[in-house]
This record gives sequence, C-alpha cells and structure tokens, in this order.
Amino acid sequence: MNTTTEKMSQPSWYIADVIGVRDETSTARTLILQVPNWPGHRAGQHIDLRLTAEDGYQATRSYSLASAPTEADRGSSIIEISVELLDDGEVSPYLVRVTDVGDRLEILGPIGGYFVWGAGQEEPIQLIAGGSGIAPLRAILHERLAADGVSADSVRLLYSARARHQVYYEDELGDLADSEPGLISLQFTRSAPKDWTGTVGRVDADLLARVSIPAALEPTVYICGPTKFVEVVASALVGLGHDQARIRTERFGG
Ligand SMILES: Cc1cc2nc3c(=O)[nH]c(=O)nc-3n(C[C@H](O)[C@H](O)[C@H](O)COP(=O)(O)OP(=O)(O)OC[C@H]3O[C@@H](n4cnc5c(N)ncnc54)[C@H](O)[C@@H]3O)c2cc1C
Repeated sequence: MNTTTEKMSQPSWYIADVIGVRDETSTARTLILQVPNWPGHRAGQHIDLRLTAEDGYQATRSYSLASAPTEADRGSSIIEISVELLDDGEVSPYLVRVTDVGDRLEILGPIGGYFVWGAGQEEPIQLIAGGSGIAPLRAILHERLAADGVSADSVRLLYSARARHQVYYEDELGDLADSEPGLISLQFTRSAPKDWTGTVGRVDADLLARVSIPAALEPTVYICGPTKFVEVVASALVGLGHDQARIRTERFGG
C-alpha cells in the first residue's frame, strides 16, 4: 500500500470554508468548499458533515463528493457537495437554505473504499442514479472520462429524476449527451418536457435492457439514490444477468 492510499484510508476532521454556492434545482444546492490540507479523494467517496448548534447539540450527516479528484479547473483543496432539501429534515434545510459564502463547516473525510472508481479499473462502468444519487456518480463519470476519453462503450449514465426541473448539473450533462450518443440517458418518473421522445416512469428492466451496458460485457455497475430505488434497480439488473458481485450500491436513505 502506498502512502497516498494510507493517508486516504484515514479520514480526518477539517474546517471547510464555503467559497461558493450554486442552485442545482429549486430544492437542491451545491456547496463549493475550500478545505486547507485536504488530502485528496477518490471518485465516489463521501464526507461526514457535522453541525453544532449554539446549545452544543450536534447533528452529523453524510454527503457524497460531487467533484471529481482530477477536475482541471479547481485546486486539489476545493471540493463540492450537492444537497437535496428534505422539508422535515434536520440538516439539509440548513445546508440548502441558510449556508452561504463565508460560512465554515466541520467535515470528516474522505470516507469510503467500496463505492469508488479508480484509474486501474479498465472494465466498462454503468452508472445509475436516482435523484440526489447523481452526486457521487458525477464524480465517477468525470474521472472515467478524464482517464479514457468520451466513449459510451466504456461508461454510461442512466439518471432518473422526477421532472426536468429536478435535474442536477443539467447543462453539463446536456453537453456530454450531445457529444456522445448513449453516454447519458435521462428518465423522468413524473413528468417530461413537451419535446421529450422517451418514456415516462420508473426505471425498470425494459429500460435497463435498452440503455445500459449489457451484462455480457461485464460492466461494474454503480447504483446510488434512495434505498428503494437502489434495491429495485439492483434486483432488475440481476434479472438481466448481471453478476451481483459487480454491482456496487450506495443508499442515501428515505
Ligand atoms: C453515504 C451517503 C452519502 C450521501 N450523500 C448525499 C448527497 O450527496 N446529497 C444528499 O442530498 N444526501 C445525501 N445523503 C443523505 C444525507 O446524509 C441525509 O440523510 C439527508 O440530507 C437528510 O438529512 P436531514 O438531516 O435533512 O434529514 P433527517 O432529519 O435525517 O431525516 C428527515 C426525514 O427524511 C427521511 N430521509 C432521510 N434521508 C432521506 C433521503 N435521502 N431521501 C428521502 N428521505 C430521507 C428520514 O427517514 C426522515 O423521515 C447521503 C447519505 C449517505 C449514507
């Protein structure tokens, strides 16, 4: 094991400065964090974020790193998380509605060694996101494209969102979709734009068979989103012949 890997496998606490915020949708916000001495991370990893109230009460939640380690336009100490607002939640309303540039946040990371992609993995990868589950998959997608170039034979993303106005990173994903047919597939579960030519509904075996990398090519599959979404999609993939051992999942709760 080299020293970089050892360092990454030991999460530490850091103080992160909020240096930017970006609304992804009306209920989701990306926080751009500068973290002095950040050791770097692997695509797919997450952080734990701890809020402390004035009376000392603390709440900690996990958030995936949406930024890829090798994104060229940012320094290695800048990371991004994308947070979906849960109206009755304790932490997400504060991060989406209150947190702003100049605030400081306590984070523990980088965390996770299973739901990650690294440059040594040469097999095709299929990414499947539900809602805010797109966050770590954005990082993995960028990392894979940076390593291997843009090819729908080596990586594909299927992203399920309720409607177009719920799609995170819309411009960026749109540009990627235009650059390579089959690279990005969007699925709307509630309503679709007027010009939409695809189907509307939940991700199921038919859709997976049409748009994802076939089981015969032995892709590693990464599924991330609400628990129910992850379970239904993983089970459909096994039904399509994917080996359970090549399916990696991250459940966000719900
Ligand atoms: C490894 C990991 C990575 C995560 N990454 C992200 C991320 O990148 N972006 C993000 O927005 N969230 C992410 N989450 C979820 C996040 O940690 C919190 O659970 C979420 O922000 C809700 O916290 P809260 O304090 O607002 O709600 P809470 O006060 O914890 O919960 C409020 C209510 O919402 C329900 N609930 C909790 N989580 C969800 C959910 N995801 N969907 C629907 N209902 C839910 C609870 O059961 C409860 O009823 C991740 C979770 C894990 C385990």
